[in-house]
Amino acid sequence: MGGAKPIPLPGGQIRMSTSLPVLIAGGGPVGAIAALALARQGVPVRVFEADDRIDDAPRAATTHAATLEMLEELGLVDEVIRRGLIAPKFCIWDRASGEAIAAFDFGVLEDDTHYPFVVQCEQHKLNNMTIDRLRAFAHATYDFSSRVQAIHQFDDRVELEVDTPAGPRRVAGAYAIGADGGRSTVRKALDIAFEGYTHPERFLVLTTPFEFAARYDGCLRNYFSDPDEWCALFKVAGEDGGGLWRVVFPTRTEETEAAAFDEAAVQARLQRFFPKRDSYPVVHRNLYNVHQRVAASFRKGRVFLAGDAAHVNNPLGGLGLNFGIHDALELAHLIARVMRRDAPPDTLDFYDSFRRPLNVEYVQQQTIANKKRLEEKDPAVRARGNDALRAIAADPAAHRAYLLRASLIESVRKRAAAVG
Ligand SMILES: Cc1cc2nc3c(=O)[nH]c(=O)nc-3n(C[C@H](O)[C@H](O)[C@H](O)COP(=O)(O)OP(=O)(O)OC[C@H]3O[C@@H](n4cnc5c(N)ncnc54)[C@H](O)[C@@H]3O)c2cc1C
Repeated sequence: MGGAKPIPLPGGQIRMSTSLPVLIAGGGPVGAIAALALARQGVPVRVFEADDRIDDAPRAATTHAATLEMLEELGLVDEVIRRGLIAPKFCIWDRASGEAIAAFDFGVLEDDTHYPFVVQCEQHKLNNMTIDRLRAFAHATYDFSSRVQAIHQFDDRVELEVDTPAGPRRVAGAYAIGADGGRSTVRKALDIAFEGYTHPERFLVLTTPFEFAARYDGCLRNYFSDPDEWCALFKVAGEDGGGLWRVVFPTRTEETEAAAFDEAAVQARLQRFFPKRDSYPVVHRNLYNVHQRVAASFRKGRVFLAGDAAHVNNPLGGLGLNFGIHDALELAHLIARVMRRDAPPDTLDFYDSFRRPLNVEYVQQQTIANKKRLEEKDPAVRARGNDALRAIAADPAAHRAYLLRASLIESVRKRAAAVG
């Protein structure tokens, strides 16, 4: 997306249309990356994060090629690779028979990207390393324990009401970004509808150090199709690099948290998936509501939505955070150009007009299709879906086309074509 380096004028100043900073509500991975991208372009930025630390619950890990290229621009990619695991392929299995349906190898993208693989790097690692980089910029601040409560817009500025450890504060900025997650206070304050639906079941994530790789061809990202209980299995490095596996199951719709987390039920679920003689060590158990929703608009006046505040989806395909990082870079690039007077303010219209349909086309459509395929109950439809996957995997051109879409490279190329 270019423009990652600060552009200082003589004397170290950046010529800006205003001296006000960009304000960011939410210092999760998307808010922190938007802040770093702005700071690197010389734009003053303030991040307000409600929590007192970065949440390390197991959420995103899969980082796709298109995103790795953006993290390279931000100087983050080497650390992401070092603290993560390189996963060159993903495999789709039939759970009941244990047979492989198809394997997809990102190596076929070697002429398309410097990174013909995904990196499994836990999102809290990316979040923390981004904040560390941000702290090097004198014109950037990142405040924990600071919850944005309300937002007020004026012709020339936006003001946030923030609850801080020192009491309530009212802070002015040139623009604001709501990167405050799926339950976004900013989105609600702007009265923007979150259109779509919530899946009736929840997703249960069980994390274990038990090593599954030998059974599944050394593949670190596995999906198991099953009409009764699909499953997904991913490896992450863990804090010490020793490796942890996250096993994802859908809950029954009526299943309570207590029932899903019950030790006997957890062991039974894992044993049904992969029977072994002794019990599983389980280091985390987490339950997530899962939605397919897109904000009716990604912008109102001087305020923008990015990441989960703008769109949420099921995690099958590992696309939500990736797309949110792309939002962050696009928005930082557009805002920096306008604030430097390199582009007129209506340049900012591109963000909503382009990224909203792009999310529907690449993230909502793919994740909905991935889930449907794994859980399909009609045997004939299942068989057709599996045959289609086998045919794609067996044909080099179709294999590459499938992965260009799955890795979001195609969506980035579409954007490049749109801006000329
Ligand atoms: C099980 C699971 C697996 C996933 N796997 C993947 C994957 O492999 N790849 C992928 O791309 N995506 C994945 N995702 C999705 C990914 O986790 C999210 O898309 C990502 O967290 C979005 O980042 P964010 O910064 O937009 O929002 P969040 O991570 O939700 O961060 C929002 C931040 O805003 C803060 N906040 C909230 N309200 C306020 C307020 N009023 N004021 C100030 N701060 C506030 C919160 O404390 C939080 O720190 C997965 C999700 C789940 C649940």
